[in-house]
Amino acid sequence: MQDTDCVVAGAGVVGLAVARALALSGREVLVIEQADAIGTVTSSRNSEVIHAGLYYAPGSLKARLCVEGRERLYTYCCERNVAHDRTGKLIVAVEPDQLGRLSAIRANAQSCGVGDLDLLTQAQAESLEPALRCAGALLSPSTGIVDSHALMLSLRGDAETAGVSFAFLTTVAGAAVEADGIRIDTRDAKGEIFALKTGAFVNAAGLDAQALANRIEGFSQDLVPPLWLARGNYFSLSGRSPFSRLIYPVPVNGGLGVHLTLDLGGSARFGPDVEWIDHLDYTVDPRRSAVFYEAIRRYWPELADGALQPAYAGVRPKLSGPGQPAADFTIQGPADHGAGRIVNLFGIESPGLTASLAIAEHVAELLYPG
Ligand SMILES: Cc1cc2nc3c(=O)[nH]c(=O)nc-3n(C[C@H](O)[C@H](O)[C@H](O)COP(=O)(O)OP(=O)(O)OC[C@H]3O[C@@H](n4cnc5c(N)ncnc54)[C@H](O)[C@@H]3O)c2cc1C
Repeated sequence: MQDTDCVVAGAGVVGLAVARALALSGREVLVIEQADAIGTVTSSRNSEVIHAGLYYAPGSLKARLCVEGRERLYTYCCERNVAHDRTGKLIVAVEPDQLGRLSAIRANAQSCGVGDLDLLTQAQAESLEPALRCAGALLSPSTGIVDSHALMLSLRGDAETAGVSFAFLTTVAGAAVEADGIRIDTRDAKGEIFALKTGAFVNAAGLDAQALANRIEGFSQDLVPPLWLARGNYFSLSGRSPFSRLIYPVPVNGGLGVHLTLDLGGSARFGPDVEWIDHLDYTVDPRRSAVFYEAIRRYWPELADGALQPAYAGVRPKLSGPGQPAADFTIQGPADHGAGRIVNLFGIESPGLTASLAIAEHVAELLYPG
């Protein structure tokens, strides 16, 4: 006898979207979250950008789920009045020798099904954004921003309306694949252990996904990919933003370069950079501002001394380390591991927010094909 159809570990944007999708398809779902609220980890420590899907390897999960998720997200935000803005973004070549990189990004984007990019001359780019200095730019009109907290509240509301239950301050301590389903061992805030039986289990634990997968009895640890942590630090800009679109340099290894994003109030922040770390720590070292000033002044020379303030940091759950090629999302379903109705979500870094609604459909299909 099972207590529920499906348990989802983690109430970040991905766990919420998965729970919602499963409940809307008629499943009984319990979300177990170790924090006291939804979205307190990576889902509230990001840039809130709705990515168009320009940089990923064609055919990869990141490429496919980003493009599909972006359209689903815009539609969802319109239907549910979740604050968002299709701001557009400029990827800028700061030197003429980077112009070839813009053409390569456009060609890659086309292979991923994103065909709306425009190559702009220096004059065209600088007339769109007068504070910008560049040798040329690529305009992505389908990039935007979203209020990630409003999105998560809306997903939670849908999920609850569809019957999803939430257990906060409760940790999924482990699980075991058994003949009649999956046993989930939970630990509450007082340290009390409680076991329940479920037909399916989704590990959407973000930075803890590997640790949790390693605690599933009957699941081969050989299938658990290594985890690298890459902190992304942000600095906020005091005063009004001089730009009305998002401004990105050409990408660097591990991240997208020190770029400017906007929030829905029109304030600007710069980052995230890429800082490889060996334990979780969200402290922003103010001394990193020197690198930010230098990188930003390459495309915005008027940035004044003292204008940047340390803001916040997020940590990317990466599946490839320094100097290694970028890894794809790893979303393992029953056909991949043969250990019952379990889906593990590993390496859900950017564009995980953009892709969340598409990831949810993908997970539902892995668990209940057809
Ligand atoms: C610096 C940075 C910038 C980014 N910018 C963007 C962007 O602009 N656009 C974009 O699309 N994406 C962006 N992303 C990626 C995006 O933020 C993530 O892909 C997304 O938030 C991942 O959501 P999640 O639900 O998988 O993880 P999380 O939000 O981390 O949620 C996991 C949840 O699981 C819970 N948990 C962990 N272990 C357990 C357990 N054992 N039992 C119960 N609960 C548990 C945690 O408490 C947490 O609430 C960015 C990421 C970073 C780090």
